[in-house]
Parts: sequence; structure tokens; C-alpha cells
Amino acid sequence: MRRRALLAGAVAALALGEPLHAATRYEGPLFDAHLHYNDEAQQAHPVADVLGRMQRSGVRAIVANSRPNDGTLSLASARDATRAAGLTVVPFVRLYRNRADYSSWFGDETIHQMVLEQLARGTPAGPFRGLGEFHLYDSANADGPVAAKLMKLARERGLAVLAHCDEVAVEKLLAHAPGARLIWAHTGIGGTPVAKVRELMLRHPALIGELSYRPGLTDGRGGPADEWREAFTALHGRFVIGSDTWINPRWQHYEALMDEYRAWLGALPVPLARRIGWGNAAGLFGLPDPQQ
Ligand SMILES: [Zn+2]
Repeated sequence: MRRRALLAGAVAALALGEPLHAATRYEGPLFDAHLHYNDEAQQAHPVADVLGRMQRSGVRAIVANSRPNDGTLSLASARDATRAAGLTVVPFVRLYRNRADYSSWFGDETIHQMVLEQLARGTPAGPFRGLGEFHLYDSANADGPVAAKLMKLARERGLAVLAHCDEVAVEKLLAHAPGARLIWAHTGIGGTPVAKVRELMLRHPALIGELSYRPGLTDGRGGPADEWREAFTALHGRFVIGSDTWINPRWQHYEALMDEYRAWLGALPVPLARRIGWGNAAGLFGLPDPQQ
């Protein structure tokens, strides 16, 4: 009997100790701060489908952008449906009319003109609140004339900028417009050392890190890696999450992606998890807390 009791105790301890992260899943609202509703997604996943995925995932606000910009407009136009889903759409102007624009926008004056036109037009969900996502595969292109112009425009108009680039390009972009609100897509997708991320954030108080695809983020046991936990604690107002639905499989797995966030956020203290999951992005755009 004694042996059995001991054994039962050990099993109970294991059960208590092991799945700690899973047991403390983050249950609060999510703000998806990096979402695309591109051309090809609109056919496979009509508005009702993507809104259903967000609603089932507890996503209460999104940064919406798309190639071309009509996808964003269809989300921003679906006022009744987004209201019913409890979702706030924060529209961004994307710089891409087509895939060719990814690698030339930074020197293309017609993109600058398109951005000005879109900003003037606005959306049924309100004015555009940001620019991007844009890509800089070669950091030198952050000094392209249109990249510099758009950074200055963003700062002048209080727009956020969602940029996929390395740490060199972050510095270059912010040199064009010091103090501009730059959301760094993926926070160093090439594996920028966490110490470097922290140093950049300390030097640039308006730099925000978005965490999709960030290598080394989790510890393999369901929680954030130690160095990330420390960064989140030290810079608690500076990180946000996103789905990055850049291809249709990301839409197919949307709920699972949000579940992954809930799992590792659950390993953080609840107020910190809520900041990263919701509050930091909500604060950027002045959104109130959801009712429930
Ligand atoms: Zn993206």
C-alpha cells in the first residue's frame, strides 16, 4: 500500500509539474498586429470565413493590410460583420499592387503617389493608421528615396510603420524619421541577438517588436525562452503578436497559430501576457479594452 501511495504521489507530482504551461494558457483578448488579406486569400477565405477564424481565436482587433489594398477595404467595409464578431479593424496602406513591387517600392515614386491617394481616401472603418507591411531584403534599400519619404510621411501624420527588415535597416529607417513609430515585423527574422533587440529598443523608444516567425522565441516546453522572458519583463510595453497570413496555409492554421501564442503567453504573469497579447497594440492605436 505504502509503495502504491508513493507511486501515486510521484505520478501526481509529475502531472502537476510537467504541463504547467498548458494548464495556464492565456485566456484574454488578442490583437493580431500583423495580418494580410491578400488577393489569393480572398477567394479561398471569404470575409465571413476569416472573421469566423478570428472570433473563434479570441482576436478582438487586427492590423489589416493586403496586396493590393482592396482586401483591406473589404474587411474595413464589412462593418456589420466585424461588429458582430467583436472585431476592430485597424487599416494600414500596403505599398504593393503586385508581387513585383516587393523588390522595387523603395525607389518607385508611383508607390508614394498611391500611398498619398489611399491616405486621402481612407476606409469605412476610419482613416488608415499605418503603412506596410513592406520588405527590405537588402538593408541598403532602406535609404531609397521613397523609403525615406514614406518614413517622414509616417512621422508627420502619426502613422505606424510595419517593416520586415534586419536591424541595420531599422536604424536606417529611423534615421530618416527619428521617433517614428516602427513596428518591426518578426523582431529580427534572421535571428538578431536578443541583446541587440533590447539595445535597439532602448535607443529607439517608439520601436515595437512583432513576434511572428521570430526564431528562438520559445523554450520547446511551451514557454518563452529565458532571454525572451527577460526581454519581455524589462521592455513590457514593446512587444506585440501577429499571424502574418502571407500565404493561404497561414489562414488554414489561423486558430492553431493563435493557440500557440496563448500557450507561451500563459507561461508569463497574466498582466504581462495581456500587454503582449492585447494591450501594447491597443495602446498604439488608442483602442479601449474589449467589454469581455
Ligand atoms: Zn507579413
